[in-house]
Amino acid sequence: MPTNDHIYNCYAPPPQEFVRGEGAYLYTESGEKYLDFIAGIAVNCLGHGNPTVLGALKDQADKVWHVSGMFRVPGAIALAEKYCAATFADKVFFTNSGAEAVECAIKTARRCQFVEGHPERFEILTSKGAFHGRTIATVNAGGNPKYMEGFGPEMPGFTNLPFGDMDAIKEAINETTAAILIEPVQGEGGVRTLDIQFLKDLRTLCDEHGLLLIYDEVQCGAGRTGKLFAHQWADGEADPDIMAVAKGMGGGFPLGACLSTERAAAGMVPGTHGSTYGGNPLAAAVGNAVFDELTKPELMENVVKISNYMTQQFEALKDAHPDVVLDVRGKGLMCGLKLKKKALDVRNLAREHKLLVGNAGDNVLRMVPPLIISEEHVREAIAILDEVFTKAKDMDDFEA
Ligand SMILES: *Cc1c(COP(=O)(O)O)cnc(C)c1O
Repeated sequence: MPTNDHIYNCYAPPPQEFVRGEGAYLYTESGEKYLDFIAGIAVNCLGHGNPTVLGALKDQADKVWHVSGMFRVPGAIALAEKYCAATFADKVFFTNSGAEAVECAIKTARRCQFVEGHPERFEILTSKGAFHGRTIATVNAGGNPKYMEGFGPEMPGFTNLPFGDMDAIKEAINETTAAILIEPVQGEGGVRTLDIQFLKDLRTLCDEHGLLLIYDEVQCGAGRTGKLFAHQWADGEADPDIMAVAKGMGGGFPLGACLSTERAAAGMVPGTHGSTYGGNPLAAAVGNAVFDELTKPELMENVVKISNYMTQQFEALKDAHPDVVLDVRGKGLMCGLKLKKKALDVRNLAREHKLLVGNAGDNVLRMVPPLIISEEHVREAIAILDEVFTKAKDMDDFEA
């Protein structure tokens, strides 16, 4: 096997190389089969090798690959129309990744304050444990010191506040505040869910103070919680002004977007922003196919049904393994188990048992399976986890 010496050492991948995928399974060259409950970190929402999405990509590949934003891209226009019809948004900027979508959201918010006569309002309030990406601005927005160390001076313009603390937010608002940026369900931070009421209160607070509400639904969007977007559980009572999406939206093809109201995007005129690749014909073709699948009611019903079943099973696992599992968290098919043992080691042990899961902050084992899974897949995963947790009992306890 060739070494990966010439790849940046930012990741430490295991030796397995997956050469084929089908539904909820990945296969190595030698035919070993793995149950995929991490799905490229909440990306492969329709599983691997979805024929409809694959067909859309192949069709577009025969036509035109790329023209840049200099020219109209019919697929992107159609996709923007679909997302606007399905959400609070009036305007869309397509990107290639989540971080770029958040960057665009930050720029849109500040620019809105600027064109509305408040250039002094640039400060964005964010949450501890947040994750918004790995660009210089988005690591500063996330505020995780580990991700900022050695990358130059801390960037002004972000205030990182305790998670889910309304009083802290109220106290932090001043004449320089432009916006609140928040994940309705924190992913990397440990699969932590905000109450719907909290989101409604944020909406009210933003209206009272002339602030823009920005959601980062890069991970919790794209049907992950059983609605197209997690904040939609509030039935329109906690809509944002701006929202970043990515991950599941391309089902595995690099695609993200910043969605915005007409008002919030009013300052984003020619010359203010751009992306060479964003929403190119290939990405748009895939995005349309994924959207059409995600918005089929049967799929969202499946997420709700399967996630209820899975949560019950997790609770039972917790009861059976009190030495290993402390807490069951999450919403829909964005699931976390807070562990007493080191989540990273348990994750690796699960991989040895042919189950792919992830880990997240706060010592959480993270599961974000494809949205198409069945109860049979859940039973298979639970049986493996049961075995893994039995073995994990002998591990040392996790120390923060
Ligand atoms: C993954 C993630 C991002 C960053 O997305 P990239 O595509 O890796 O740039 C931003 N916000 C949230 C909530 C995420 O989960």
